[in-house]
Amino acid sequence: MISVDIEFFFATLIACAVCVYLAYEIYWSLIENRSRGDDNRKQTLYCCVRCGKVYTRPRDRDDEKTAPCPNCAFENIRLRF
Ligand SMILES: [Zn+2]
Repeated sequence: MISVDIEFFFATLIACAVCVYLAYEIYWSLIENRSRGDDNRKQTLYCCVRCGKVYTRPRDRDDEKTAPCPNCAFENIRLRF
């Protein structure tokens, strides 16, 4: 049987645990960034021509081109970039 130094064994074990933890953290940060990007794409940006307020509305359907301003209820067309 191969004899392994107990300190080396635990050092390897801790190194493996740290690697798994880092991989887990990176994986979840990537998942979060991706879902945040999806949220941004589902939001439509509007700018009120009457009071100048910039606001967003969730994009329910693609043909929705106007949304009422939360300040003055004026119907504004969506901004395009
Ligand atoms: Zn307004």
